[in-house]
Amino acid sequence: MQRVKVELGSRSYDILIGRDLLAELGPRCRKLGLGSRCAIITDSNVAPHYGEETQRLLEASGFQTTIITIPPGEKSKSLKYVGACYDTMAKHRLERKSFVVALGGGVVGDLAGFVAASYLRGIPFVQVPTTLLAQVDSSVGGKTGINLKAGKNLVGAFYQPKLVLCDLATLDTLPERELRAGLSEVIKYGIIYDALFFRRLEEQLEGALKRDPAILAKIIARCCAIKAEVVSQDETETGLRAILNFGHTIGHALEAISGYGKYLHGEAIALGQVCAARLSQKILGLPSADAERIRALLERAGLPIEAHLTAAQKQKILAAMKLDKKVSAGEIKFVLARQLGKDEHGQKVPESEVLAVLEKIQFNS
Ligand code: ADP
Ligand code: ZN
Repeated sequence: MQRVKVELGSRSYDILIGRDLLAELGPRCRKLGLGSRCAIITDSNVAPHYGEETQRLLEASGFQTTIITIPPGEKSKSLKYVGACYDTMAKHRLERKSFVVALGGGVVGDLAGFVAASYLRGIPFVQVPTTLLAQVDSSVGGKTGINLKAGKNLVGAFYQPKLVLCDLATLDTLPERELRAGLSEVIKYGIIYDALFFRRLEEQLEGALKRDPAILAKIIARCCAIKAEVVSQDETETGLRAILNFGHTIGHALEAISGYGKYLHGEAIALGQVCAARLSQKILGLPSADAERIRALLERAGLPIEAHLTAAQKQKILAAMKLDKKVSAGEIKFVLARQLGKDEHGQKVPESEVLAVLEKIQFNS
């Protein structure tokens, strides 16, 4: 088992990573001194695989559980499902020491975290992330939130879990496409923070794609450690934490204009990272060989590195970036890499340069 400690003073917590760790959930929750009742929030893809088992394991440690199953997908990150969770929790008399277990991917984690942050002004929260993306990204850092009609993640709270338990066995059932999308964020950590880790990924990518547990455990632990380091220096995103957004400026815009359906988040940010690498070359002098290594690794992970965009779509991407609050006076702020492993946030890029890299991700370019 690997352990990463997230250092946040009195709100510090452990991330545990290993195969078949779910069996530890009950005893660990006991050790944390959590109350006797809990709500397991999950989705209908995850519940058939791990719902009953999680419930049984917690009950074996003396907890009374109620399971709340939401439909899978981003649409469930809504006030409607927040309300449904509150009602079920109140009906089962969850009180201040009761706790919430998030069992699922990023959607479940974001929703369950927000529910835990706000029910009775906050009750303890434990994460059991079951996607690679959630294990390396959304389960670390304490961002919780839901969507409004007006946009994604517009309501939320910074709220840290008491424990994150990443059981690699839960990844066995994860669809291939979701695994690859998670690798997009994994590759990002190499680019923004750790050139040696990037090299290790180049060597071990096939093993990761085959879900080799030893390789995955090390990769996940390194990603969590990087994110934990960044977050503990900047919990509420006033500075450094922005480097985690490498590839996300264009990535988010692509997701927005394609109606959040065409690309998975990891896929959109793969394209975003290809663009950001090219901008880094142009603006910060990232060596072209490094930009090429970034593109090549994303491609080997089976992620999209080219897109067909019409002129109208490119304009829409620019407009979406402007809505994303990262713009001033015709310049858009990006996170760019000076070298592999060394990123700088707040880099101003003229719109014309953004359009030029969007041209370059065209098919057959
Ligand atoms: P994220 O990629 O942000 O973690 P989701 O929470 O939407 O996003 O999860 C992606 C998809 O994978 C969802 O359809 C979810 O139900 C499904 N899923 C999550 N974990 C597993 C798992 N371990 N096995 C099978 N399907 C899973
Ligand atoms: Zn992301």
